[in-house]
Amino acid sequence: MLFSRFFAPTLKEAPADAEVVSHKLLLRAGMIRRLTSGVYSYLPLALRSLGKISDIVREEMGKGGAVELLMPTAQPAELWQESGRWDHYGKELLRFKDRHDRDCCLGPTHEEVITDLVRRDVKSYRQLPVNLFQIQTKFRDEIRPRFGLMRGREFIMKDAYSFDRNDAGAEQSYKDMFDAYTRAFERLGLRFRSVEADSGSIGGSFSHEFMVLANTGEDVIAACTSCSYAANTERAIVRWDGVKSEAVPPAHETRATPNAHTVEEVAAFLNVPASSIIKTMLLDVDGKAVAALVRGDRELNIPKVKTLLGADTAELASAEQVTVWSGAPVGFAGPVALNVETVVADLELQAGPPAGGGWVTGANKGDAHHVNVWLDRDAKVTRYADIRVITDGDCCAKCGGQMEFPRGIEVGHVFKLGTKYSAPMRCVFLDENGKEQPMVMGCYGIGISRVLAACIEQNHDENGIVFPPPIAPFDLMLLNLDAKDEAISARAKELHDLFEAMGIQTLLDDREERPGVKFKDADLIGIPMQIVLGGKSLARGVIEAKDRRSGEKVELPAEGFAEAFAAWRTKVYQGWGLNV
Ligand code: ATP
Ligand code: MG
Repeated sequence: MLFSRFFAPTLKEAPADAEVVSHKLLLRAGMIRRLTSGVYSYLPLALRSLGKISDIVREEMGKGGAVELLMPTAQPAELWQESGRWDHYGKELLRFKDRHDRDCCLGPTHEEVITDLVRRDVKSYRQLPVNLFQIQTKFRDEIRPRFGLMRGREFIMKDAYSFDRNDAGAEQSYKDMFDAYTRAFERLGLRFRSVEADSGSIGGSFSHEFMVLANTGEDVIAACTSCSYAANTERAIVRWDGVKSEAVPPAHETRATPNAHTVEEVAAFLNVPASSIIKTMLLDVDGKAVAALVRGDRELNIPKVKTLLGADTAELASAEQVTVWSGAPVGFAGPVALNVETVVADLELQAGPPAGGGWVTGANKGDAHHVNVWLDRDAKVTRYADIRVITDGDCCAKCGGQMEFPRGIEVGHVFKLGTKYSAPMRCVFLDENGKEQPMVMGCYGIGISRVLAACIEQNHDENGIVFPPPIAPFDLMLLNLDAKDEAISARAKELHDLFEAMGIQTLLDDREERPGVKFKDADLIGIPMQIVLGGKSLARGVIEAKDRRSGEKVELPAEGFAEAFAAWRTKVYQGWGLNV
């Protein structure tokens, strides 16, 4: 491919509204252009990378037993009303009316359409399992589209849906997809981790997220350094190995703590460590008051409380609710004589504070706290449970190993749906005994366009993108430094054709630009192998080669170039841990 005939409008500077590095580099490398908020055109370079990502995902899905189809983007409201999601999906669902005034939407995901498709044609256990996938444009009217391809409103997703006769079958489909994802992300050359995305008990998890590891990732992962346990930090299980403390402190007393609302203020005022204070958080759980107690230096994990109580909703109570439920302004709630039926306390509160003595808690009246509180004696705790966010120093819940907290970007999600859609939408089959059963479903998504952004977040340097070979738009960039020189241009064309004949996708920079511009653009676009043709080096009988990843430059002999090049190429790929 000739750069002069290609369309890769590179930029010196990124537009000011581009915040993250992938967004900046995708714009600067001439890979994407914004049409409107969260909606981008994929320019030729990006499209080539997206094609490669799609091909690898497609192949691995196929090996995992899934078959490709393509469903419509515009969908009728009726199906969404049947599943119940028309009323629940909220504003992310872009709705519109057609000329007959019928409600429609743009698909943000395709559970309804696929369930409708399968229920019409699959009637017997003999036709199951079925696993279908597509690679298609999705639309989600995200509240904050940002970071370029990372969180768009229109984006490309691979979505797959499995239908099985029973739970055992569904579990096998889930496992096949989990394995397919693992293979796909390995082949894409990305460093990633699959994490449990379910706060339920260990082993009972039915949802995993695939995270590309990058310092700029939005999510923090809690990952064991000894075993395979990894989970989203907000969901990671915290284990408590402490012992119940026996040294009961003297009776609790009330202290005036004027204007001390926060843990820091109370700790400073009473001169105690934050770990001696109990934070009492009042929550509105399905409309009822619940008190959740955690140590002052810990963070409450509200989703854990929600799961623990089997609730539909759980959120922090409003200031008014706090005042009514605790009888005090915000900042002074405490478990002693608290008029709230359900009080859940974090596991570690079974022991006393690490510094000894009793706890400091709010006194349920303004500007006052209690000291020497002992929960067993002074409060009514309904239940001790793991309700806090994991933090530095916590051990692995599975093996007790040391945890680390890398950042990541969610690129894929596998999910066991059960009969959530098949039951209300009557997607049923007749089993061996002629009995009607709902199919057991799973759904599996990969953000194809987000993978491209995540790949760049993980692989870049100060000069631009550093594409892993499997995702790179081309394998090799050939720089002709003397495009006006006919002999050199002829040699460049010859090399270009040689590479193409070897199956190496080559972008020949034949533009009449200064060498400096070409070097900069080559680094910016980040194609893994660079070959530089210039009058001076050719006169010395050599051709320069640069490994974009390591930055290492070598001179290959112009005579016998093909063999020398093949050996060098092997080395470049080995640097990525890949075979040619
Ligand atoms: P997020 O929590 O990031 O919004 P999600 O849980 O809504 O993601 P899923 O519904 O599981 O995402 O979608 C499957 C995959 O699609 C995600 O793992 C992600 O890679 C991708 N994806 C989701 N929303 C977007 C978006 N707005 N822009 C780009 N990719 C997205
Ligand atoms: Mg989302």
